[in-house]
Amino acid sequence: MNQDSSSSARPRLSFEFFPPRSASGADSLSRVAGRLAELAPDFFSCTYGAGGSTRDGTRDTIRQLLDLGLQAAPHLSIGADDQAQVFAMLDDYREMGVRRIVALRGDVPSGSGRSRFVHNAETLVRWIREHSGDHFHLEVAAYPEVHPDARDAEDDLAHFAAKVAAGADSAITQYFYSPYAYVDFVARCRAAGIEIPIVPGIMPITNYEGIIRFSEKCGADVPRWLRRRLASLQDDEQALRDFGVEVVTRLCEDLLAAGAPGLHFYTLNRWGASLAVCRNLGLDRQTGGR
Ligand code: FAD
Repeated sequence: MNQDSSSSARPRLSFEFFPPRSASGADSLSRVAGRLAELAPDFFSCTYGAGGSTRDGTRDTIRQLLDLGLQAAPHLSIGADDQAQVFAMLDDYREMGVRRIVALRGDVPSGSGRSRFVHNAETLVRWIREHSGDHFHLEVAAYPEVHPDARDAEDDLAHFAAKVAAGADSAITQYFYSPYAYVDFVARCRAAGIEIPIVPGIMPITNYEGIIRFSEKCGADVPRWLRRRLASLQDDEQALRDFGVEVVTRLCEDLLAAGAPGLHFYTLNRWGASLAVCRNLGLDRQTGGR
């Protein structure tokens, strides 16, 4: 199941941020990006609140990363944005020198009164290709454990295939803690003729309540054994962090051994756990320890 043409190539590495809400948060993000840049990642990405809630914040963060000399990829969640708004953002990002976009439908903001967005990510991919041709490398989302809104696994796979057919170059998955979910998903994609690289999304574990709450919201499964172990460590912050790094390191080892072409870390704007996992994996040595 190796998805990389050269098996000796370094796995693709990327780190995801969200737009900081304050000047001190932005300062801190520069330090975090600086630490993670030691690993010479392929790119950093920044989330976008569907409905346009972080339109300026996402752009500011991308500008900040570019000014630090880093490769930066904005997320663009179509949400409720219309075609003119999307095209304006594409022109702006192109002007800034951006070459990669993570194209999403987005999550319906709570309290927005909307039950669904009008468009799905496939539409956004079409619009981007229509407006910007092949200028951007397009990432889309994939769900080894099935997207929570999907009717069933087959339907979800068919919608993923449609995004790819519309012009996606590669995919990043929702996070998960069972490597077999990924292995099975990639096998189903290949059997369905989907050939693009599928990079697993990795969520470091640093906080018990946070990971349980967030996983419920986004439909990621935290297996019982892991939940129970984390629950028993929740009052010992350091022990929980150490255990989290160990578990996530093993997960990444299994994924890379199974042929995953890279790793995408949901950093939550922190560097500690992501850097520790990458060092355990020897990814710093492969970059000459920079
Ligand atoms: P889609 O691919 O459109 O799929 C959404 C659902 O609709 C799925 O259940 C799918 O099966 C179904 N579907 C798709 N097409 C059709 C169709 N034609 N007819 C009927 N059903 C259909 N959210 C944000 O708000 N901002 C971010 O920055 C952000 N970044 C993310 C990054 C990654 C790597 C991932 C994995 C997720 C991210 N999310 C983000 C969350 C994501 O927006 C949500 O999971 C959202 O609910 C779905 O987005 P999507 O792009 O996968 O949507």
